Amino acid sequence: MPNNEIVVFPWNKNFETGIQTIDDQHKNLFLLVNKLANSLVHENHIEVAEVFDELADYAQYHFSEEERIWGEYFQQDGWMQTHAQVHDSFIPDISKIKERASTSNWQETIENILQFLIRWLALHILDDDKKMCLALHELKNGATLDEAKRNTKKQMKGSVGVLIDTVLTMYEELSAHAIDLIREKHRRIIAEKKLMALNKKLHHIAITDELSGLFNRRHFMTVIPEQIQQAKSEQYPLSFIAVDLDHFKALNDSLGHLKGDEGIEQVSRVLSSMFNRPGDFVFRMGGEEFLVVVCHSNPQEVCNLSEVIRTHISNIILSNPVEDIHHQLTCSIGVFNHIPVQQEDFLFFLDKADKALYEAKANGRNIVVCINNKTRC
Ligand code: GH3
Ligand code: MG
Ligand code: MG
Repeated sequence: MPNNEIVVFPWNKNFETGIQTIDDQHKNLFLLVNKLANSLVHENHIEVAEVFDELADYAQYHFSEEERIWGEYFQQDGWMQTHAQVHDSFIPDISKIKERASTSNWQETIENILQFLIRWLALHILDDDKKMCLALHELKNGATLDEAKRNTKKQMKGSVGVLIDTVLTMYEELSAHAIDLIREKHRRIIAEKKLMALNKKLHHIAITDELSGLFNRRHFMTVIPEQIQQAKSEQYPLSFIAVDLDHFKALNDSLGHLKGDEGIEQVSRVLSSMFNRPGDFVFRMGGEEFLVVVCHSNPQEVCNLSEVIRTHISNIILSNPVEDIHHQLTCSIGVFNHIPVQQEDFLFFLDKADKALYEAKANGRNIVVCINNKTRC
């Protein structure tokens, strides 16, 4: 049975007649009952016509097989006839449900079949087949047919009959409740999954810059103060790499805003492909300004990486082939690497990285300036 299948009606030792062939066939009917119950629970539409065919096949095979086995011992006895009558009522009863099926939806029809099968199963197996089985044991132990029937009646009388009726009623009620509850639970699980996926999507939207797909400034304000706090208590260095595109206004003016957007997207791809380890964060802080934060950074390594960023960006050429205008994209980069102490917060880091960036702009652009707290590298 697949993982999410539920055994709504478990096979129980009380259902055993002790005759393998008969028990195996009864178990098949239990399987069908559970399949139908699961289709209701999971709201998997199943073909009602196929269910009717399956029941007809079952009845044809099982009844003749069972009657053959009982027939060996009971021959033309009255019990045989009553038993055969119970069998004979099966198909007409199923046919009535089938007739109603044309005016009901599939769920109602499956519920009707289930209700009928549960009652039929319990009556047939717990009462009729059990009775035949007990008598058969008596016969095997040397009793005559009359003695066997008398002894069996004694054993089946009174409490057993009441018990069967009680169990039946309870079983039906419990099963109906169980199906309702399980169906409800299944719906809730699906709703919860949808809600979780939606929340995840909403969270992603809330922390992402639409054009670049990078984290936005809002997310910077959430995660970076925490990162600085942690670096402070564990005393490890953080690097802020501030990247600002050069003369971007001029690019927009010559190639148009859309080409400018394309440039921003290409730069974003460069940054996110270079910084994707745990502890790396890439933000679009606004306009043509980006910030990379690297935790547990090595100052020299981050300086070298910033140089790689600068090179990659300077390889981006944006063009308007119609007017034969080509624009090389460049950027200026300010890097600040430091182990935070005392009152130093994200503003302190931003300010230092901005100062380094300003220096890069002032020194002619398309330059990386790296500073540690006091020294330059
Ligand atoms: P500098 O080298 O000094 O940084 O010069 P700059 O022109 O890059 O800087 P400035 O701050 O004067 O202009 C930034 C420009 O970036 C102005 C604005 O039109 C453009 N910009 C901001 N956001 C976007 C955007 O989302 N798409 C496009 N295409 N342009 C943008
Ligand atoms: Mg700029
Ligand atoms: Mg700017």
